[in-house]
Amino acid sequence: MMKEVRIDQKDESMGNTVEFHRMPAPKTRRQLLTELFPDVPRYRTEQIEAALFQPRLKSFEEITTLPKEMRQTLSTSVPWISVEAERILESARGDTAKAILKAEDGLRFESVLMANARDQWTICVSSQIGCAMGCTFCATGAMGFKRNLTSDEIADQYRFWKTYLEDHPELPQRISNVVFMGMGEPLGNYDNVKDAIHRWLKHTDIGPTHITVSTVGVLMNMERLLKDPDWPPVRIAVSLHSADQKRREEIVPTTVPDFLIKLADWSHRYADTLGNRRHHITYEYTLLSGVNDTPEIADELARYILKTSAAKVNVIPWNPVQGKIFSTSAQERIDKFKSVLRSHGIDVTQRKTMGDDIAAACGQLITETAAESGARRIPLE
Ligand code: SAH
Ligand code: SF4
Repeated sequence: MMKEVRIDQKDESMGNTVEFHRMPAPKTRRQLLTELFPDVPRYRTEQIEAALFQPRLKSFEEITTLPKEMRQTLSTSVPWISVEAERILESARGDTAKAILKAEDGLRFESVLMANARDQWTICVSSQIGCAMGCTFCATGAMGFKRNLTSDEIADQYRFWKTYLEDHPELPQRISNVVFMGMGEPLGNYDNVKDAIHRWLKHTDIGPTHITVSTVGVLMNMERLLKDPDWPPVRIAVSLHSADQKRREEIVPTTVPDFLIKLADWSHRYADTLGNRRHHITYEYTLLSGVNDTPEIADELARYILKTSAAKVNVIPWNPVQGKIFSTSAQERIDKFKSVLRSHGIDVTQRKTMGDDIAAACGQLITETAAESGARRIPLE
């Protein structure tokens, strides 16, 4: 049983004290490497890192450019990949697969492979085990926060799915996109998310505009990325869910005072600093029937959005989560909502519900750990 480290952490961005039950994370490959070879030259670590992303290599033993002794030590002391599949569920339509991944400390998290319109794959990755934000409609939120994923565990979700595809030669092989829409809040794990993205950009054929970081709106780190010269030029999606401060506080309880005003202000500075035609912000909007999906609310949303630097909304029909009292909006209601937004000139897309038969749709990601900790768990099959 893992030791649970309890710390009280004041998160200024949230404006209140969030209590994390934080588990220590396993050591990363980099940490192990420096422990084993304290004087390892940088070119060697880079050589190893590049090899990890070469699909034809399956073990440290196969990196023939490394000295034999080093290969042997690495093979016995460093895991080749930081995650292993405990279970893989494939949707009946064959367009989605969900893996329940086990980390080295035994904790589980999930990662999803989804077919995209270009006959390629998008992977939906997790950034944390659980989430501290507690959004009222989200299954991950219900399980609380366990720990941040390491940058290996984030980056290796790509490697995991590449190997899966290789084992399924009948499927298209290319992973073209990554979205941080699995478990956790990516801007709550800023450094590891950034590091994993840099590794993909360096060692895979995925370009920065094909990577989307989705955030509930952690303003402190949204400010940080504006000033960070090392922040990769990826796309940002902000989960809005309401353009009314009070309603948003009810749906997303970690909403800070004046969030909407601050977000609009941030969006303009983002556009000035990092924005261009391909780096616009998208708003995600989970539709909850009777809560935030009326035509009047769509009108209010459009008016708010037009005050920000962005004009793109992705509406997400709510995916049912057991134990939550919300209901999914009927398609006619969704269509009406979208048409009101469009009448204001807003670019609207609707998230296709995929993998609902394997509970891999957005926000349905929840692990055994949640069941153990008393949170409700949806059946996986
Ligand atoms: N924590 C980040 C990223 C993970 S959640 C965020 O909140 O943005 C990814 C997206 O799934 C978010 O837009 C979130 O609001 C949405 N989501 C969560 N649970 C959902 C559910 N049950 N149905 C539909 N969308 C959901
Ligand atoms: Fe966390 Fe995102 Fe779920 Fe909110 S919607 S609880 S931020 S994972």
